[in-house]
Amino acid sequence: MSVVIELRCVNYSAPLTDECFSLIDKGVFAHAEDSQKSVASAYKLALDFAFNRGWVEAPKVNGRTGMICPNCAKLLEAQSSS
Ligand SMILES: [Zn+2]
Repeated sequence: MSVVIELRCVNYSAPLTDECFSLIDKGVFAHAEDSQKSVASAYKLALDFAFNRGWVEAPKVNGRTGMICPNCAKLLEAQSSS
């Protein structure tokens, strides 16, 4: 068995934009072997990918916490600065 980890934008259930990465299948993926150790390191790898690609940690979006994709992050930033 192998394990696939996908980080989804916390905004995907109520996206601000049709360009939300999780709607256009540009989420962050990592593959792990079937062990806790491998899953843990794949998760860390996925987080690193996400930060490197402009994902940001959102304090709370739609009542949920987690990462938001670069496109939603841009819109949130534009909304909060206007
Ligand atoms: Zn998004």
